[in-house]
Amino acid sequence: MTARGAAEQPAAAAAAERLADDCFALPPGTHWTPVDEALERLQGAVAPITPYETLPIGAADGRRLALPAIARRANPPTANAAVDGYAFAAAALPPADETGAVRVPLAEGRAAAGHPAEGAVPPGAALRILTGASVPEGADTVVLQEDVTLEDGSLQFRPPKKPGANVRRAGEDAAAGDTLLGAGHRLRPQDLARLAVAGVGEVAARQPLRVAVLSTGDELLEPGETPRPDAIYDANRPMLLAALARLGHEAVDLGRAPDEAQAVRTALDTGAGRADAIITTGGASAGDEDHVSRLLREEGRLATWRIAVKPGRPLAMGTWAGVPLFGLPGNPVAAWVCALVFAAPALEVMAGGRWRAPLGYALPAAFEKRKKAGRREFLRARLTPQGTVETFRSEGSGLVGGLSWADGLVELPDEAMSVVPGDPVRFIPWAGFGLA
Ligand code: AMP
Ligand code: MG
Repeated sequence: MTARGAAEQPAAAAAAERLADDCFALPPGTHWTPVDEALERLQGAVAPITPYETLPIGAADGRRLALPAIARRANPPTANAAVDGYAFAAAALPPADETGAVRVPLAEGRAAAGHPAEGAVPPGAALRILTGASVPEGADTVVLQEDVTLEDGSLQFRPPKKPGANVRRAGEDAAAGDTLLGAGHRLRPQDLARLAVAGVGEVAARQPLRVAVLSTGDELLEPGETPRPDAIYDANRPMLLAALARLGHEAVDLGRAPDEAQAVRTALDTGAGRADAIITTGGASAGDEDHVSRLLREEGRLATWRIAVKPGRPLAMGTWAGVPLFGLPGNPVAAWVCALVFAAPALEVMAGGRWRAPLGYALPAAFEKRKKAGRREFLRARLTPQGTVETFRSEGSGLVGGLSWADGLVELPDEAMSVVPGDPVRFIPWAGFGLA
């Protein structure tokens, strides 16, 4: 891998690491691997491989932290008023009258945001204070201006029950030295606010992972190309390139290679030179025209993972010229499911992020389904206005329309199961796979 941005890297920066060539190897004799076991192995095989650089927070949205972000100062730095009103010391108020009200003199001056009071508030008096102003010395509590009557230079109000009312304590949001966000966290706009208020102007940000995408197949046409009767348009490349961008990676388009060893080899060489990881679709099984798996077996490093999952045929994983490669099935539905379930969490870790299990939740089924034991199943699914989850009209794996129709996937366990309407099923929205 080339050392990108080496000049900007802090001295302590881990240079781009490489995964071992045999990182995806399976123990001999492995047959159909259950999904959870495959994911566990995958998790153990991957590590961050991208270099990092120091970036101003304004340029770091979407980046993953290489080092924890530590608060440089407290937020708020001083106790300040949460409302417009009057500040006083709760313990120094005069006794209340029979209605519970006190009368105190109005002190001279005022405290506003960015303009602190000039002196201390005299004991037993109250000072005008505006939202965001530091609470002056001699005061600890603020009464809301709407609760006060001002008459002849004195204030009458019923004191708030609690001393410290309407005051934001120093450091209540963050204390100096707090770990605000850990290494591996992918920054979102609201995180930038959190860093900013705690005085963090720069972060150690991983450079985006470059992921190359190659479609293989003699039958594939480019978008807009004049159709031939027995050719189909390439669905996988536009889908996966867009998904990678949404997952926070830099997608590199390797185009399409015919089912011919030399062409696939050349494309993989290009991918290994331009990217940190490669995704191919098609040609991953053991058929005559399955050049991706053959080349990896003969010239790269290959572990063919026969995962007990539907949809999804054998998933080829290996390295080409030292670059990790995911050989996904050609079928667009299987390619999509395997990309989200297997490739996405692995790429997230390679990019310096955290391994994340898909976030799903239980919803009542609006469908009926029986499945046999031995295979995890993912069904194209979407929410109904009633808050139930329905599945696509057909499980046909060639129906790309079902992917577009769906809002996510229903995940059915490895065990045998029969679902009737109303039964809880696990629904994973696309966002649960990390797709923004
Ligand atoms: P393969 O994995 O190469 O055996 O392909 C399995 C099925 O998926 C075949 O019907 C292919 O025509 C189809 N297929 C492969 N690649 C693509 C692609 N990029 N877009 C749409 N269909 C594809
Ligand atoms: Mg093919």
